[in-house]
Amino acid sequence: ILDQRLQKVVSYIPQGAVLADIGSDHAFVPCYCLQQNLIERAIAGEVNVGPMEAAQGQVALVQLEDKIDVRLGSGLTVLTPGEVTAVTIAGMGGTLIASILEEGKNHLSGEERLILQPNVDAVDVRKWLLANGYALLSEAIVKENEKIYEILVAEKGEESLYSDDSEQRDWELYFGPQLTREKAPAFIEKWQTEQQKRQYILEQMQRGNDSDVLQEKMANIERLIEKMK
Ligand code: SAM
Repeated sequence: ILDQRLQKVVSYIPQGAVLADIGSDHAFVPCYCLQQNLIERAIAGEVNVGPMEAAQGQVALVQLEDKIDVRLGSGLTVLTPGEVTAVTIAGMGGTLIASILEEGKNHLSGEERLILQPNVDAVDVRKWLLANGYALLSEAIVKENEKIYEILVAEKGEESLYSDDSEQRDWELYFGPQLTREKAPAFIEKWQTEQQKRQYILEQMQRGNDSDVLQEKMANIERLIEKMK
């Protein structure tokens, strides 16, 4: 049984996909997908030996060695272009996800669906997708155990979720085009919490250059909250 966050990630994997789960840790996603007959086969990629061994152990436990190939290596570099039809990268910061995509983009054919779940800094993932010709197909937000997670789904193609207006687009890159429109309770709560954190930091900080940057970011979030009322 998967937690809600990973259930949501899995819900965007096309039926019959060949999946690469990068940063797979215990390989829960590929194991679950195969047990549910959602996918044909999978590659579980891990950069660290401990989690890779955990993946191997789990795959052996559920006797899926013939369907899941556990590979040690950084990010997408464990893949040969065209080998998979869907890629999941979940449970890491958005900055790391964006760097995994950038460093490994030559290992993608461009036909894959990308399902990305940044814990923080989703803006970095959206920027990478936009700069690399990926269209955002869908965004979701999930609250579980007092944590809020964003999920971004993308495929190569013409971008359609973003506004044409460049100022609005910058705003949407930061907060998410679909999420901004939907205003789900978890989304509102996420940015209110983020704002409180910044408020706290600001109060702790001595006056200096840094506070100007933070104040500008806070002004943006304040405007978002106002708009949502
Ligand atoms: N994907 C699982 C999830 O969402 O529950 C596990 C998330 S776990 C917090 C992050 C995993 O990513 C760790 O096991 C870590 O070793 C792995 N990781 C970090 N950087 C990586 C990279 N460049 N390539 C492959 N795996 C990486």
